[in-house]
Amino acid sequence: MRSKRERSSSGSAGTLCEVCGEAPAAHVCPMCGRRVCDEDWAGDRCIVCRETSCSICGARLAVASCSICGRPVCDECSVQVTPVARVCRECLARLGGLPREWPPRSLVLAELRRLSAGLSSLLRG
Ligand SMILES: [Zn+2]
Ligand SMILES: [Zn+2]
Ligand SMILES: [Zn+2]
Ligand SMILES: [Zn+2]
Repeated sequence: MRSKRERSSSGSAGTLCEVCGEAPAAHVCPMCGRRVCDEDWAGDRCIVCRETSCSICGARLAVASCSICGRPVCDECSVQVTPVARVCRECLARLGGLPREWPPRSLVLAELRRLSAGLSSLLRG
């Protein structure tokens, strides 16, 4: 009886995870196309895509993180409240929409102070 095994022609055998490079790949990410192992699989996408995609819609790439809850959010699921701060629509809903005074004066003042500090240091030197 000959029991010689041929593995070379059977395609995907031995493909390694493209994230960790150590474990055998078990899933293909539908977003980036990476082949990843079980540990780097987040259920419907790879962990890399999970970290870089919007935590609300899950479909688009996150552009910032919510200033309140800190989750990554995309452009459409968040509102720009200051030049540097974004708030996700879930936090907005929880707040009942934007407060009448938004952005809060304290936030604006802190922002202005930082900007003017930068400016004056530029002017001085
Ligand atoms: Zn892996
Ligand atoms: Zn991916
Ligand atoms: Zn989104
Ligand atoms: Zn939020």
